[in-house]
Amino acid sequence: MRLIPLPAFSDNYIWLLQDQQRLLVVDPGDAAAVLNWMTDHPGVQLDSILVTHHHADHTGGLPELVQATGALVYGPSLEKLPVTHMPVAEGDKLTWGALTLHVMDVPGHTLGHVAYWAQPTDHPPLLFCGDTLFSAGCGRLFEGSPAQMLDSLERLSALPDDTRVCCAHEYTLSNLKFALTIEPGNAALQAYAAQCRLQREQLRPTLPVDLLTERAINPFLRIRQATVRQCIDQHGGTVADDVSAFAALRQWKNEFQ
Ligand SMILES: [Zn+2]
Repeated sequence: MRLIPLPAFSDNYIWLLQDQQRLLVVDPGDAAAVLNWMTDHPGVQLDSILVTHHHADHTGGLPELVQATGALVYGPSLEKLPVTHMPVAEGDKLTWGALTLHVMDVPGHTLGHVAYWAQPTDHPPLLFCGDTLFSAGCGRLFEGSPAQMLDSLERLSALPDDTRVCCAHEYTLSNLKFALTIEPGNAALQAYAAQCRLQREQLRPTLPVDLLTERAINPFLRIRQATVRQCIDQHGGTVADDVSAFAALRQWKNEFQ
């Protein structure tokens, strides 16, 4: 099995999972990127498409891809997509060849946002989390509440350490700038930032990243850490609970230059 981040637009990744002649695609915002890849890999058949949420940069390629390949589309039961899809929700299990994909409801960025987690036999666990968890950051709250997003992130964070986080945007360096403002003394964060800068200089993706790393460096997964909490308190006044701290941190990031 092969996992491929296919760049699209300015900073999206369309994730491809190839198992011999079969192809699964996650969040194809752009059909051309996927079709070009398929032209370069003759004989590989796209049969399944996973969608995490309804935003156009994740769904724009669906009509053309479905028409070209007849692939089955799975997506959130609570959201409307530009093509007919098989609705999925928390607890559902999808089978793709030998792989079982577990669906998780992760509202916050959008209300119906879902994530897909799988444990292949020949590859570390995979998490396709769309715009919920980013490396060193998290998605904006367009539809959901801070309480929903925090709960979603904590449930993703509880997955196995070696889970490969396959998020939908290359936002890592700008997220790291903010993370380093929150925890300037975090040695793991400094080391990770140096590694990511080098990867981007070489035009390589910083993703996927493993969850063990994310838990050590991502301020949105570290809301209970004293260092993170003190920083939030100093910035905007003392907050009473985890949800308020998360909301304050997310708001700060929205305004951060
Ligand atoms: Zn989005």
